[in-house]
Amino acid sequence: MATIDLLLVDARIATLRPDGTDYGIIEPGAVAVCDGRIAWLGPQQDLPTTPARETRSLDGRWITPALIDCHTHLVFGGDRAAEFERRLQGASYEQIAAAGGGILTTVQATRAASADDLFAAAMPRVQALAASGVATIEIKSGYGLDIANELKMLEVARRLGAASGLTVATTLLAAHAVPPEYRDDVDGYVDLICEELLPAVAEKNLADAVDAYCESFAFSSEQVARVFAKAQSLGLPLKLHADQLSDLGGAELAARFSALSADHLEYSSAAGIKALADSGTVAVLLPGAFLTLRETQQPPVALLRDHGVPIAVATDCNPGTSPLCSLPEAMALAARVFGLTPAECLAGTTREAARALGLAADRGTLEPGKRADIAVWDIEHPRDLCYWLGVRPLSHLLIAGRDINLTAS
Ligand SMILES: [Zn+2]
Repeated sequence: MATIDLLLVDARIATLRPDGTDYGIIEPGAVAVCDGRIAWLGPQQDLPTTPARETRSLDGRWITPALIDCHTHLVFGGDRAAEFERRLQGASYEQIAAAGGGILTTVQATRAASADDLFAAAMPRVQALAASGVATIEIKSGYGLDIANELKMLEVARRLGAASGLTVATTLLAAHAVPPEYRDDVDGYVDLICEELLPAVAEKNLADAVDAYCESFAFSSEQVARVFAKAQSLGLPLKLHADQLSDLGGAELAARFSALSADHLEYSSAAGIKALADSGTVAVLLPGAFLTLRETQQPPVALLRDHGVPIAVATDCNPGTSPLCSLPEAMALAARVFGLTPAECLAGTTREAARALGLAADRGTLEPGKRADIAVWDIEHPRDLCYWLGVRPLSHLLIAGRDINLTAS
């Protein structure tokens, strides 16, 4: 090591290394940061005697990899609070849809909003996630549903990354819902995605991945396969909203295309889970949507464990089914609702979430060579992150070895 830029000492470290047991704990430990990356990490007593520009004692605080929210839809116009209230007052989905509600309300509001309006509305959500310990956020499009508005959403997501200092991974989710103009010609919309939108997005380098919603009222597995084949030909990695409300073979479809992740999975079959294991696809579980929709069909957690499928947890932050802007709260819900262990929840928002974004080589664990994205916590043990609801346990957040101001815009 040449000179160390930042040396963190007197830390308790949960490395989340894949070879570590559970949290991969080192205590007391130290971390040396050079050029924004972890240069050394280990027991404090083994610390090399290299000079450091800045040494900081953490007074026994815990550090973990900064959290990664690998599934959000946090750029959108308007909100759906009134619809949420109407549903709880007894209105059915059909009544809400007949009154012009549902996802198309958000599509209308998103189309009507300027890029600046969308940016201003989304930034507080990004900041709330950062204040909960998140340094990397995936943001999907999918409320524009035409070329100009899908591009607008992705551009806003890119701007949010540049302005916040967080990493934003963008995902094109044009196949999210059928736009009203194509109600009677879904295949025509799929043609538009494949022939015009995907090439434009690839040319402008606006998306880091492509996602689709495979469900009876959205897109069939054949239609999703067409989008996926085109995306793959353009070199874009894939993700899938799979088997959330019924089993349409979404897990198998994601596996067939070696998708980075298959998300939701409440109704996936045993064969689907086996296929995910064989393809190395990450299962992303989304307790916020499960709770908001008051679903009862649990994702097959035991099968995922039996087959060794990596499990990630995310907020699914969106106005209709998961208005949730804290990743530790999502972890706490995943523990309570899906029965994940606290160690699984933390791995699911660090190591496995990085894998779900194709970023595992660069972040998600604390290991030499990885980015120094580090969350510092005022907790007694990493399990506390799942235990409490309604507290903010983050002390501070380092991104590439630098302190992030959690209130700046
Ligand atoms: Zn989603």
